[in-house]
Amino acid sequence: MRVTEHFKQADGQTLISFEVLPPLKGGSMQAIFDTLDPLMEFKPPFIDVTYHREEYVYKKRASGYYEKTAIRKRPGTVGICAAIMHRYGVDAVPHLLCGGFTKQDTENALIDLAFLDVQNVLALRGDARKFEGRFIPEEDGHNYACELVGQIVDMNDGKYLDDLIKGEHASKTDFCIGVAGYPEKHFEAANLEHDLRYVKQKVEAGADYIVTQMFFDNQKYFDYVDACRKVGINVPIVPGLKPLTKLYQLNSIPRLFHIDLPDDLVREISQAKSSDARTQVGIEWCAAQSKELKERDVPCLHYYTMGDSSTIQSIAEQVA
Ligand code: FAD
Repeated sequence: MRVTEHFKQADGQTLISFEVLPPLKGGSMQAIFDTLDPLMEFKPPFIDVTYHREEYVYKKRASGYYEKTAIRKRPGTVGICAAIMHRYGVDAVPHLLCGGFTKQDTENALIDLAFLDVQNVLALRGDARKFEGRFIPEEDGHNYACELVGQIVDMNDGKYLDDLIKGEHASKTDFCIGVAGYPEKHFEAANLEHDLRYVKQKVEAGADYIVTQMFFDNQKYFDYVDACRKVGINVPIVPGLKPLTKLYQLNSIPRLFHIDLPDDLVREISQAKSSDARTQVGIEWCAAQSKELKERDVPCLHYYTMGDSSTIQSIAEQVA
């Protein structure tokens, strides 16, 4: 079922959903099941699976020279989606990137997904590769997520890249399309207003809903939703949530996700006496965020699990 149909059927009730990462190459599907099994009691209507494009690494050879090699550390997104749908009977939402994909690759990926009965995708641009200063699309790939949304919409209309595929040979897909939004703006955008113009472009291109980057201060989400509504973005905006439970995350989260952390949270995490105490601070903070968001009738609380089901479980138990 389409994600937006789940929102409609919930009839104002706040749903709970999760995002998982494919295991590192060499890992097994069991790692995903171990993360998700304890979370199924919260009846997620859908589960997102992230996509990880290839990265360049430099390997030292016997000659002393370094060789540049492309590797994919976390392959398996499509297979994991199929396995999740098979095991739990819930909808899976694969993340689909512009980065690393030609338009043909995208079309083929969408055909695979449609054949697997996957009805939802989160359409993203992806980041620049390490060692590249800016995002570089494939030749004949998409520059921005809005273009990817456009290609998915075309396939929903039965339009394929090869215009000889038409009539009875051009079956229409029926993808519900999610896109990303950034309450603290995307780090490359000149300012929030500018960023919102492009979010609106994604919605006008056919995106059905937005999932936000994580945030630790709900006011940022409320302000973002207000700003979206003011510029005419009227699709559901799902808050993305992650508990901060480790000391090193005080630096890594702002650096990786380009967001600020509230001073109270920084102080509480810094002053906690043990790793268990820090975990508890993170759980309480995220549970308080979740409760307030639920009181304000958000369509869904979307948790970034990052393989840590016990922390997410403790939070979800407080809000379910
Ligand atoms: P876009 O919407 O294309 O925007 C990128 C930048 O370009 C923004 O600054 C925007 O303001 C600007 N822009 C947009 N359109 C235009 C235009 N037409 N002209 C000029 N400027 C424009 N990354 C992964 O690699 N794998 C994942 O699975 C993944 N999942 C994510 C899930 C969520 C919920 C979020 C919030 C992010 C996720 N990301 C993931 C990270 C994402 O790929 C990066 O944040 C990326 O830098 C931007 O992606 P986007 O889809 O928001 O890009």
